[in-house]
Amino acid sequence: QTSPSQPSVQQINAFREREARVYAKARPKSKKRFADGVAGFLDGVPMHWMLDWPMPFPMVVEKASGAAITDIDGIELDDFCLGDTGSMFGHSPPPVARAIRRQARRGLTYMLPSEDVLELGHLLTTMFGLPQWQIATTASDANRFALRVARAVTGRAKILVFNGCYHGAVEETFVRLKDGKPVNKPGLSGQFRDLTEDTKVIEFNDVAALEAVLAPGDAACVIAEPVLTNSCMVLPDPGYHAELRRITRETGTLLLIDETHTISSGLGGYTRVHGLDPDIFVLGKPIAGGVPASVWGLSAGVAERYSDYTRRKPWGYSGIGTTLSANPLQFACMKATLTDVMTAKNYRHMEKLAARLADGLSDAVARAKLPWHVARVGARVEFICAPGPLRNGAEAEAAHAPALEAAIHVGLVNRGCLIAPFHNMMLVSPATRKKQVDRLVDAFGEICGELA
Ligand code: PMP
Repeated sequence: QTSPSQPSVQQINAFREREARVYAKARPKSKKRFADGVAGFLDGVPMHWMLDWPMPFPMVVEKASGAAITDIDGIELDDFCLGDTGSMFGHSPPPVARAIRRQARRGLTYMLPSEDVLELGHLLTTMFGLPQWQIATTASDANRFALRVARAVTGRAKILVFNGCYHGAVEETFVRLKDGKPVNKPGLSGQFRDLTEDTKVIEFNDVAALEAVLAPGDAACVIAEPVLTNSCMVLPDPGYHAELRRITRETGTLLLIDETHTISSGLGGYTRVHGLDPDIFVLGKPIAGGVPASVWGLSAGVAERYSDYTRRKPWGYSGIGTTLSANPLQFACMKATLTDVMTAKNYRHMEKLAARLADGLSDAVARAKLPWHVARVGARVEFICAPGPLRNGAEAEAAHAPALEAAIHVGLVNRGCLIAPFHNMMLVSPATRKKQVDRLVDAFGEICGELA
């Protein structure tokens, strides 16, 4: 911690240890059942991300409903993590729960369309603007398949990513800048290939670098979140998206906008709210209200080029698919989400409370005179334990304060509020109530006061 006004390491450690004891004491059942992991699972967990929560051991969840989550020790928390966006519209939104019940009587997967499909294409086009869609199961897959299409239609092998990006388990996006040079992202397991051979990487918000890197005309596609939400939260400079679109067009590079997190922006995502015009659009996580599903959409031009490409290519395996994708449960839940959950009314509620949350957190930071800041994209709010705003991935990496953030997370859980692990993200859902937001603001304020 370089700044003199940041909490000291001793202060952070003392706070974290005290909070960890409080957490463990309150959860004898979770501790007994889970503190040593569960037999039969690698490292004791069914998915290793569960070890990345900052609490001493994960709480075992009994149920989640609306914007609250209850563990087997009977403790109810206000849930601002919401499955890191999978449940951005609340846990089991009633229209989705009804769709699940209805479809459960009609079969769950059969590699054929159900009647819901008859409306779904239209719903996707109306909501997001692009005319041609495919359904997959995860946002990682949707990105992977969309990148393949971009390469097919352009005949170019390379792609461009932004430093600090995350687009899911898409191997070729795991490239970073280190001292200005592209390298494989540190920490990848079992990755021996040099990913920088086909992946270019530059900083976000750098128009000159974008011009230079795309000038050779060898990149199929830029894959971008419209706001970097996986590197703290980096907002685009005014005019940056217009430049991104201009330069990609001038160099024949396709633009893939990954809205998986920025769908928090409002109806139709950041793309619709800010009038972006991508060639390819990807959305996963909440698109079926928490049931695993994702979509990738193509502009008319790219769809036409891809049809042309597939007509010319020898018949055979495309390498794009997965068996459980486009199943009738996904159709039913996606239809329910697009019709009755992703509504203007719900977004208005989310936006209003998220603004209240961001203002409350900013006030708490100011009161405690900490050198921190708060950023927001619609219903998605992030506090960053460093001054801001941040302009790119390098600045975001420098701002990251893992020990401090972990201490705050545990402190918040002990005060009744769950926020997303790995970063400091809070989501407001249609089910979130004002008193939950105010509780989070108060809890954060108390912790800032203790750490300041
Ligand atoms: N795109 C973005 C922008 C993401 O943040 C994530 C996950 N955090 C993904 C794609 C991948 O989503 P999934 O893990 O559901 O495949």
